[in-house]
Amino acid sequence: MSDSVLHGNGVVPGIGVGPVVRPIARPVVPADEPGIDPDAGTAQFSAAAARVADRLADRAERATGPAAEVLLATAALARDRGLVALVQKRLAEGAGLCAATAGAIDELSGMFSAAGGVMAERVTDLADIRDRVIADLTGQAEPGVPSPEVPSVLCADDLAPADTAGLDPAVVVAIATSLGGATSHTTIIARQLGIPCVVGTNGLDDVAEGTRVLVDGSAGEVVIEPSPDLARERTGAAEAAVAAAASWRGPGTTSDGHGVEILANVQDGAGARRAAETHVQGVGLFRTELCFLDRDVEPTVDEQAAIYREVFDAMGERKVVIRTLDAGSDKPLGFATIKDEPNPALGVRGMRLGLQDEGLMDRQLDAVARAAEGSAGEVWVMAPMVATEDEAAWFGAKVRAHGLVPGVMIEVPSAALLADRILRHVDFVSIGTNDLSQYAFAADRMAASLSHLTDPWQPALLRLVQGVARAGLDAGKPVGVCGEAAADPQLACVLAGLGISSLSAAATAAPLVGATLGGVTLEACRSAAAAAMEASGPAEARQVAIERLAD
Ligand code: PEP
Ligand code: MG
Repeated sequence: MSDSVLHGNGVVPGIGVGPVVRPIARPVVPADEPGIDPDAGTAQFSAAAARVADRLADRAERATGPAAEVLLATAALARDRGLVALVQKRLAEGAGLCAATAGAIDELSGMFSAAGGVMAERVTDLADIRDRVIADLTGQAEPGVPSPEVPSVLCADDLAPADTAGLDPAVVVAIATSLGGATSHTTIIARQLGIPCVVGTNGLDDVAEGTRVLVDGSAGEVVIEPSPDLARERTGAAEAAVAAAASWRGPGTTSDGHGVEILANVQDGAGARRAAETHVQGVGLFRTELCFLDRDVEPTVDEQAAIYREVFDAMGERKVVIRTLDAGSDKPLGFATIKDEPNPALGVRGMRLGLQDEGLMDRQLDAVARAAEGSAGEVWVMAPMVATEDEAAWFGAKVRAHGLVPGVMIEVPSAALLADRILRHVDFVSIGTNDLSQYAFAADRMAASLSHLTDPWQPALLRLVQGVARAGLDAGKPVGVCGEAAADPQLACVLAGLGISSLSAAATAAPLVGATLGGVTLEACRSAAAAAMEASGPAEARQVAIERLAD
């Protein structure tokens, strides 16, 4: 087999070539385990859990940033006193050591899941601890990622946070997983470590350990047994892209001078200060709800104003688009969200909360206006989850009454269809492609198994974007994109070809997006967009767009 290609979702650009290594499998739990004296068993469990915790802590010392935090948090969980008590209880009931360990972790996982939110996300860490402790107790190889002798490509179903956190980019040169989406742990850590990564790869399970593969994190491809020519060509192209990105200085423009603003998504002052060190032209999405995830009581107007001011100050003369609270669904806020909604993604989230509790919206706009006083740059304000023209009119009037520039996000298909009417009431719109995909395709954006539907290259999504962009051009008002789509360099060119006037994503994505846009003409972008919209699916859309951009 030569150059046979598997397709997935490229989440960290770059190329890695090497033999496939796979994580060491979970340990086998002995079937007929005898009971053990509870005190002796508890001591053995505690000793094994402590060894596991020490090994994780050792790896944390060699890691940095979120990777080190993930490892330390998992180590702390392995030392949890509550876990020891649960094991002891089971040993006293006559369970064997491994069964007691597995049962105790199951019980704790149940409690974490019931608590929901951040606690529920730690269930993967608990499963990882269970496997490591059982391996230690039974003398089996510790599960997780082996340390390969030669630069290798790590392939797995999905990776536990503790596995990805300690990876050495010099030995693991690329990652490919069968599961996982753009927001999975694997993606976050791979991005931080700069390891090229493709998730949701079809057919990866059939690739045997040791097979030489090439992972193209830009194209979202895993090439089996790549020919030397192909490997050279792809690696050369990736190196050229990295070099072009490193020399990008902004502002965003095509090679023939068509301007498209390149902006950053931020969530607080620290993020804005980091973004300000890059050549982004401003902030295209300040997610205010993320400042208050740990609050049960609504922050005062003064407190909110101080937090918003940090972001405005960080950006100096550059523009900031601030979004009113997008509480609800995957971002519940103790002081705002309605509890126990049966289907929160389709519930009272985003601006709907402000419509129900006008005071909440007014106080936030008071805070934004106060923070914006004397700010050197422009401050624009937009609302999330707007669905109708009336809602846009309500918000537009409120924001103008505060002396600010109003806009709305286009995340609900009804709003995309009504963009021309909505633009009568506001000065700009910004398309949230993450949610627009979720609602257009009736596919949970967090569900890895549905990531082919929420792929931002879906032609139907591009057609929705085109409709909104046209409405903006007709009205002479800006239409931005601030979802993950704007972080994909080739898709960014397609969006520019559709008539989008600004692209906002993680600041780290900006140089490659800016450099790629700077290498193509507006006509090539338009041609790529036209071809992508006619494709039969996202993979074909991407392929034809790349071909047109290269012409
Ligand atoms: C979006 O939905 O695309 C968006 C930018 O908003 P968020 O990701 O915060 O929901
Ligand atoms: Mg959204």
